[in-house]
Amino acid sequence: MRYAYCLFDLDGTLFDYDKAESTAIQKTFEDHDVKYSPSYLQEYGRINKQIWLDYESGLITQVELKTERFRRLLETLGIEADPGSFGIAYLKNLSQGRYLLPGVIHVLELLSKNNIKMYLITNGLKDVQRERLSGSEITKYFIDVFISEEIGAAKPDNAIFDESFRRMGFPEKEDVLLIGDSLSSDIAGGCSYKIDTCWYNPKHLDNNSGCTPIYTIQDITELEKILSL
Ligand SMILES: [Mg+2]
Repeated sequence: MRYAYCLFDLDGTLFDYDKAESTAIQKTFEDHDVKYSPSYLQEYGRINKQIWLDYESGLITQVELKTERFRRLLETLGIEADPGSFGIAYLKNLSQGRYLLPGVIHVLELLSKNNIKMYLITNGLKDVQRERLSGSEITKYFIDVFISEEIGAAKPDNAIFDESFRRMGFPEKEDVLLIGDSLSSDIAGGCSYKIDTCWYNPKHLDNNSGCTPIYTIQDITELEKILSL
């Protein structure tokens, strides 16, 4: 077997984050009795993407971004409301979103039967990720979960991989495969840490990142072939 350890990203790789996000955004506006329009989601997506890049670059903390993204959103939409309250409600609503992407249970079950050691590594927020995982059927497959807010470093920073490898018992790097959907955090992080990467790219996005994954898959069940199962 080529890889004895699989390190999975969570959102956009195993969990359907788009669905969790859109459901939570709509509910958050409704919680505040503000009429919701689907265009708000698009605007939120643009702002949130930028704020996570700011976070990955160290320009903003995770505590700040919880409120700041709604401050920017409400300002852009011209809505007078409390961004702190929106931020809290949104995380509560988001933590209820546990929608799985297609093929996930099938693959995790197969890897588990083949004794591949599985771990999660996620840049999400601690309270949200813990709550989502506590109610999810996938949690039982993972030996440990590495969350950036708990570790104090985020992908692609080598520091989160150092701490993850320590908790994994210092496996050989060549025995570890990192699977994720984000070029800027997963694939860039794996390349920098010198572990093999598998880019989950169901939307057939172009790769202009400068990092080349070892594998690219459109369907998570393609891991069966990569792992020779
Ligand atoms: Mg992801």
